[in-house]
Amino acid sequence: MQPKDTTTNEGFKGFTNTTCPFLPCHKGIKREFNCLFCYCPLIAYECPGPYEVFTDANGLTRKDCSACTLPHDGYNQSWNFIQRWLEYPVVWSGQPQTDPPTRRPRPPGKENEGRDD
Ligand code: SF4
Repeated sequence: MQPKDTTTNEGFKGFTNTTCPFLPCHKGIKREFNCLFCYCPLIAYECPGPYEVFTDANGLTRKDCSACTLPHDGYNQSWNFIQRWLEYPVVWSGQPQTDPPTRRPRPPGKENEGRDD
């Protein structure tokens, strides 16, 4: 059992840093602006976000997540999104986002069980 399972206080799921000079750093947020995932935990993993791919000054392929609202739109919604996608993380291939977007990874043999994404 995790400590978060022993409390009804869900304050750990998000917060808004109203003193940040960059807020709002992403456009299109409709719910509470969640700053908890300012550095998105999925940056090195496959994800469904609308990222662009670029090469940085060191020649590394990186994601530009400017257009992504998934880790920020609503405390509960963004918390649940990150938890679901970190269940079976798959290291990012370095390729552009697909259309339709990447599906959430599942363990072998359970790829299509209970799909909701
Ligand atoms: S595109 Fe969105 S979900 Fe994917 S790594 Fe960037 S911020 Fe995270």
